[in-house]
This record gives sequence, C-alpha cells and structure tokens, in this order.
Amino acid sequence: MTLKEIKIDKSWTLFLDRDGVINKKIEGDYVKSWDAFEFTYKAPEAIKLLSDIFGKIFIVTNQQGIGKEFMTEDDLKRIHHKMLKEIEMSGGKIEKIYHCPSRDEDMSPLRKPDTGMALKAKTEYPDICFERSVMLGDSLSDMEFGRKLNMTNVFISNKKQTISSKNNMFDLRFESLFEFSQYLCR
Ligand SMILES: [Mg+2]
Repeated sequence: MTLKEIKIDKSWTLFLDRDGVINKKIEGDYVKSWDAFEFTYKAPEAIKLLSDIFGKIFIVTNQQGIGKEFMTEDDLKRIHHKMLKEIEMSGGKIEKIYHCPSRDEDMSPLRKPDTGMALKAKTEYPDICFERSVMLGDSLSDMEFGRKLNMTNVFISNKKQTISSKNNMFDLRFESLFEFSQYLCR
C-alpha cells in the first residue's frame, strides 16, 4: 500500500525527525548554533506543502548534545526560534517541537527509538491518531519509533546504500523531505 492509496487528509499527523531531514547533519558533531544550521534542499518549501496536506506537523528530535554539555537548552531554543521563523516565512507551520536532551546511555523514555515524545504529544493533542500518522526520519531508530505506534514510516536516505525494507522497517523511501512533499502533491 502506498501513501497515496491511504489518502492523507487533515485528520493525519506528520512526525518529522530534524537532523538529516529538515537540516543537514554535521558528521561527528552537533548543530550547536544557527550559523551551523543549514536547511536540506528546499526543506521550508516542503514543510509548507506538507502543512497544506496534514492536519498537524510535529518535530521529534533527539538532542543529546545537550546532555553531553556540548550545547545548552538555550542554544537549542535559539536555533529552533530562527528555524521556525524561516519555516513560517515560507508559509509552513510546525505545531510543536519535542526534543530529548538525554544521552543515549541515560535510557530516557523520551529518546527515540522509545516513543515518549509521541506519547507526550498525544497527551497534549488528544486528536492525534497514531494509525493516521506518518513518521519521517533518516535513521532506523526513527523507523523503530514509528513502528511501535503503528505509524506509516517514511525513510529518508540519499545514499545508494542497500538498506532494504526486508525487516519491514519502512513503507516508503525518498531522497529528501522535498521529494516526499512532491510525491504527495503529484
Ligand atoms: Mg536524523
């Protein structure tokens, strides 16, 4: 089944990973300031298109750079403030950003692949239906997160690597957030 067959409408929710999806990943480092933040190809435009299709869009992002003390909560707040401003200027809307500052070894239930951030969103926005939600991310922990809640999984990868869907980890795969938005608008 493809997403098009599912027919997404305003009753659907989109959960977006951030690093590697909305902004370019920095290998071996964290995005610690706005200067280091770079949108992926046409990401704000993509989010605008997706805002017109989905009822609500949330960002769910692991930010263990905070737990490791490479950056602070305030640093992240500043980055997200500017990011949201750019997205809004393109006509897109992000309902809320959930982040997990904990390090991997802290075993926080909020850290993906655990589902805490989605469950938190559901308590704050009871209309969210996970069966009518899409999780879009660039790592398999994102896909695990989505699978645990019966979401439709969209995997973003621009590498020619052979990550197969043989473990049924994702339903669709695209090179970028923008490509996904184009697919839905077609
Ligand atoms: Mg990512």
